[in-house]
Amino acid sequence: MIGLVAVTASGRAASSALAAAWGDEAVRRYAEDGVSAGDALRTAYAECDAVVSFLAVGATVRVLAPALRDKHEDPAVVCVDEARQFAVSVLGGHNGANELAQRVAEVLDCVPVITTASDASGITPLDSFGGDLGFVLENPQRLAAVGAQILSGEPTMVFGAERWPLPALPPNVTPTQNPVEADIVISDELVDTSDTALVYRPASLVIGVGASRGVSAQEVLDTIDAALAAGGLSAGSVLRLASLDLKADEAGLLEAARSRRWPVVFHAAADLAAVEVPNPSPVVAAETGTPSVAEAAARYTGPTRPLADLTVHNIKSPMATAAVARVRPRGRLAVIGLGPGARDLLAPRAVKELRRASVVVGLDQYVEQIRDLLRPGTQIRATALGAEEERARSAVELARTGLAVALIGSGDAGVYAMASPALDHADGDDVDVVCVPGITAATAASNVLGAALGHDHCSISLSDLHTPWQAIERRIRAAAEGDFVVSFYNPRSRQRDWQLGKALGILAAHRPGSTPVGWVRNASRPDESWGLTTLDTFDPVVVDMYTVVTVGCSQSRIVGGRFVTPRGYTWAQ
Ligand code: SAH
Repeated sequence: MIGLVAVTASGRAASSALAAAWGDEAVRRYAEDGVSAGDALRTAYAECDAVVSFLAVGATVRVLAPALRDKHEDPAVVCVDEARQFAVSVLGGHNGANELAQRVAEVLDCVPVITTASDASGITPLDSFGGDLGFVLENPQRLAAVGAQILSGEPTMVFGAERWPLPALPPNVTPTQNPVEADIVISDELVDTSDTALVYRPASLVIGVGASRGVSAQEVLDTIDAALAAGGLSAGSVLRLASLDLKADEAGLLEAARSRRWPVVFHAAADLAAVEVPNPSPVVAAETGTPSVAEAAARYTGPTRPLADLTVHNIKSPMATAAVARVRPRGRLAVIGLGPGARDLLAPRAVKELRRASVVVGLDQYVEQIRDLLRPGTQIRATALGAEEERARSAVELARTGLAVALIGSGDAGVYAMASPALDHADGDDVDVVCVPGITAATAASNVLGAALGHDHCSISLSDLHTPWQAIERRIRAAAEGDFVVSFYNPRSRQRDWQLGKALGILAAHRPGSTPVGWVRNASRPDESWGLTTLDTFDPVVVDMYTVVTVGCSQSRIVGGRFVTPRGYTWAQ
């Protein structure tokens, strides 16, 4: 729940705008009815997870100072000034305030102000480090010291990071194989660390549990704890409990899971029977249909994923059995479209993914386009034009080694670009793939020209490097007969200078000479240029490989100097 505290007319208007944008159920409004600003703020702070205060930063801090406890627990606080120019993340920057300031700024169209050091310098913040991989920080009280050490550029050692697809760490953070000398330890094992190390527990352990009917929750927990102790493993790294579906109503097992807030899943006997285990039992098989419950359930991760590695074999008590397996982290491949060029046409999600990666693969000119967005320490694998398949394959191979890789391309990465060759190679189950859409050249150009794509349209690449010309020509004919608006990608280069003329000739046979033809070169880039003319008068010489050419359908027209394709379906044929 987000509390909105406003006492002035301007504040109340802004608070209404936030309520309208986020929905009334997400917010609670304070001080609308003559309560003092201070009381309203104190109440909001006590009742909500986060507060947006339309009071000055100083006033807000003075009122809340006595209530401040712990930066990991306290509600996040964002202040918005009376003129609605700034949304300032004031308290709990890494506990939601930085994000909230961004969200407020988006709705109120003002500037988010973020002053936490790691965000300001672009360094991966430690308090949310590995959060999306299920990391839990065991000793948050050490955050400030290690954070300051990294920020000041001092040598810092990390243990256990290479197993995980983590975002980039700055160059002064280097790996070590010795947890005692590490400043940051990522491990599900109860390893020896220095007193000052930050310890993250990754969610990496699946506990397989077998149980006799009527087992107590305490016995289940004792058996699990004995299994974890036998492996020298931390309970903080338990991802979930797993068992056989016959046990789905076993009260002791369910209660044990609930008491530790561990999720519990149940698998079919047939799935578990297929899992290789060290201690299969014919007795268990006769009873349940699978020769192993605990060991097999610990290893089984679903029909397509690789089995988890068994770390602790069956540990038994009179009525329960537990085994522990470690899941194999999967690498992460983000395929990201950067849009046509301008920074404000790059999706916020693309920015987030670029900052989530530790390696960026792409053509050097695209890397330059976003280099300033990358976190310090991000490895860059920039390549020159050509060798696209190889670039896509190398991105997948890197992700397969467990890294977080971003493969970038212009426009939309799935349109005549890297996504398909990459996904062709990412056919295993060892990589998580995320694709982020980008604004493709056809829509970027259509918006420069007007509303060229207002009705059915298609894109055709005139590059015959990967596609025989006969196939391209067949599609142009089909588009001509179908009366589609056509966007031509890769329209013309020094070596390929006749294809565009030929294509336009095919279309001209099916639509009037007055049909609009627009071209846009370097859409949204600093040297953008464009032109709008008709099939009769268009001269392909203005076109090169940085250009997209859009030809209207028989109904398209030029209105007020703009390319317009009408929306209606009720055309005269
Ligand atoms: N993935 C890209 C297309 C790659 S093919 C996208 O979705 O936009 C390369 C062709 O795209 C170029 O030859 C040109 O025709 C077109 N193109 C890409 N960016 C462009 C831009 N900013 N302006 C005009 N055309 C562009």
